[in-house]
Amino acid sequence: QTVIRMMQRPVGEIVPGKDLVASQEPTPTVVGNDQVLLQRLYLSLDPAMRGWMRDIPSYMPPVQVGAVMRGYTISQVVVAADGSQSGRFQVGDIVVDNSMVGGWDQYAVVPAKKCSKLPMLDNNIPMTAHLSVLGLTGMTAYFGLMKVGKPQPGETILVSAAAGATGSVVAQIAKNVVGCKVVGIAGGPQKCQWLLDQVGCDAVIDYKLANGDGRKFQKQLQQALKQVDSKGYDIFFDNVGGFILNETLRRLNLRGRVVLCGAISGYNVEDQRSTQVVPPTNYMALISLRAKIEGFIVTDYVREYKEAKRQMAEWIAQGKIKYKEDVREGLEQAPEHLKSLFNGGNTGKLIVKVGEP
Ligand code: NDP
Repeated sequence: QTVIRMMQRPVGEIVPGKDLVASQEPTPTVVGNDQVLLQRLYLSLDPAMRGWMRDIPSYMPPVQVGAVMRGYTISQVVVAADGSQSGRFQVGDIVVDNSMVGGWDQYAVVPAKKCSKLPMLDNNIPMTAHLSVLGLTGMTAYFGLMKVGKPQPGETILVSAAAGATGSVVAQIAKNVVGCKVVGIAGGPQKCQWLLDQVGCDAVIDYKLANGDGRKFQKQLQQALKQVDSKGYDIFFDNVGGFILNETLRRLNLRGRVVLCGAISGYNVEDQRSTQVVPPTNYMALISLRAKIEGFIVTDYVREYKEAKRQMAEWIAQGKIKYKEDVREGLEQAPEHLKSLFNGGNTGKLIVKVGEP
């Protein structure tokens, strides 16, 4: 089987073939009690993977040098060992593997209790949706917006990386479910047009046009606000951090909320204290605005996933939420594909097809 291991910690951008290295290895055959042998079908590629490769304390232990790279997958059960836990799986079952035991491999033995069987799939919803809108990014959008942002009808919300997997779902829940006015930030005219035409954003900002110039970005913000007839934003759902976060802080409304979902603009910066990471120097605006910034990690809400997924599926059926997936072929190319997340090469949820059921 093909396996991809992290052979050294990346410095800056990930270098495929050096940091993440593919090799041919024996397929595991020995399955212990309460374990299952899985064949991988789809691998989710996530910005967080860059963080897992760093040797720093975080919400999850780092991937060890030499270990199989970690990821969430949709997999098929090939062998289910007898035992109290794994008794619930039949050979052939399709599961989401949340074990974090490998992932960038074609076959793996993992604890059965960390897998959950996919529900009966609606014909209109592909199984990959369980890595996207009904998976981690959908849950991130749902809980980050509803529990942290707490949007109210008529409020104005700004979303960064709005054309991405998480951002596009945030924008649609805010617009089509809550009734907010939505301004999306994305890189490039195509993504911005998609946000207007398909996602339903009321205004968009192509941040690449400002090219890091704060004044130009402020002008874009002003224009977008005018378009939605608002003085400022009530909520900023931020996936990006850095320059964009700093510039937008000035435009929050009284009692505004900044939902810190991610800060992808800084993930490839080695020294987080270096000047390459733009600090939010405009934070003082928050004092007089009585505003708040709050981070969250989606897995905090794991007990509520079931209900959120049911809700999301209903919104999809009602046409309130559309989702886009960017499915690429071949595990060996996964390190190259992962880089797309950091240069905007992906449109929608980035997934690698690893095998056929
Ligand atoms: P996306 O599908 O949104 O892909 C990432 C996008 O980020 C790219 O397409 C690109 O869009 C944008 N981007 C990359 N670099 C920059 C930059 N320097 N400046 C501005 N935009 C940039 O990925 P996800 O939906 O999977 O993740 C979105 C965010 O959510 C990430 O920050 C991730 O870490 C975070 N996250 C947080 C979780 C939590 O529990 N808190 C859980 C899951 C995700 P463009 O072309 O528009 O530049």
